[in-house]
Amino acid sequence: MKDVDRKAAERALRGKVGACPSCRARRWRVLEMVALLPYRDEGITLGAPAVPIVLVACAKCAAVRQFSAVQLGLVEPVKEEGP
Ligand SMILES: [Zn+2]
Repeated sequence: MKDVDRKAAERALRGKVGACPSCRARRWRVLEMVALLPYRDEGITLGAPAVPIVLVACAKCAAVRQFSAVQLGLVEPVKEEGP
């Protein structure tokens, strides 16, 4: 993840991460932005629109949480084309 993207993610996550559910620490660091492939009736289709996710790790116990990059305003939502 580029520094500029990490800084934008840190700004967008401010006030949203809260205490770690595992150890109650409040120190987090942005790890990476990844994409999840949605599962549909026909299974997973490579090339299908993916779900961009920001991974955030607890600085104390390394627990990882996921946040929607679209809802954070970091990535434009992908419009799915109709049939
Ligand atoms: Zn923790």
